Amino acid sequence: MVWLDIKMGEIEENSIIDAYNAVLRRIRLVQQKQNSVQHDVHLVTVSKTFSRSIIEPVLRSGHRIFGENKVQEAQSKWVELKQKYEGCELHLIGPLQTNKTRDAVALFDVIQTLDRPKLAKFLAKEMEKQKKTVNLFIQVNIGDEPQKAGIAVNELSRFVKLCRDDLKLPVIGLMCIPPKDDDPRPHFNKLKQLADVHKLKNISMGMSADFETAIECGANYVRVGSAIFGNR
Ligand SMILES: *Cc1c(COP(=O)(O)O)cnc(C)c1O
Repeated sequence: MVWLDIKMGEIEENSIIDAYNAVLRRIRLVQQKQNSVQHDVHLVTVSKTFSRSIIEPVLRSGHRIFGENKVQEAQSKWVELKQKYEGCELHLIGPLQTNKTRDAVALFDVIQTLDRPKLAKFLAKEMEKQKKTVNLFIQVNIGDEPQKAGIAVNELSRFVKLCRDDLKLPVIGLMCIPPKDDDPRPHFNKLKQLADVHKLKNISMGMSADFETAIECGANYVRVGSAIFGNR
């Protein structure tokens, strides 16, 4: 696995903090424009592929919510970072294989990619075993793309029932990644509708290219990587 491992100069460190602050400002602006319902928006800074030396300036500035998409890569950075910086909230935003459930439950505070019954059962068993609660988002295949992760829209109701009622999993919201070349807005609106139908309060959608649109459509978790840490 390769990720950037350069010694950080002060200038680079400042530019990351500048970019981070710019994203925060843009989030606040959208919130202000919405002026009616002022819901809280949580920024999940996505640090995948970036080394600790690039992540640490953001941690030093006080930010604590981060996203990673691979269990092993996350372990190599975050076991240590979590010890060093108190109060971190680490989100898994990439697909989870059932054979990594144990490691994922041990390391992550939130898993955003619950998308199939088998994984739900593994997670329930593992949380019980580790006596640890990891809050979960159900990932929805919002564009019904054949290759994409996420539960199919027409199976969502049954899946929510399985997770929440039968397995008693702490499902706190829905997450989606719209089809790459589509206008994201209709997909965001649809996820918001589905969340309302199932009385789920948290909605994770929007990345560097479209987080403002996502907030307009009701997102309260946005996942932003490259706009802060640079291109991967
Ligand atoms: C990488 C990733 C992001 C962040 O993407 P950027 O375009 O770099 O902001 C958000 N969500 C998921 C699921 C990702 O894999």
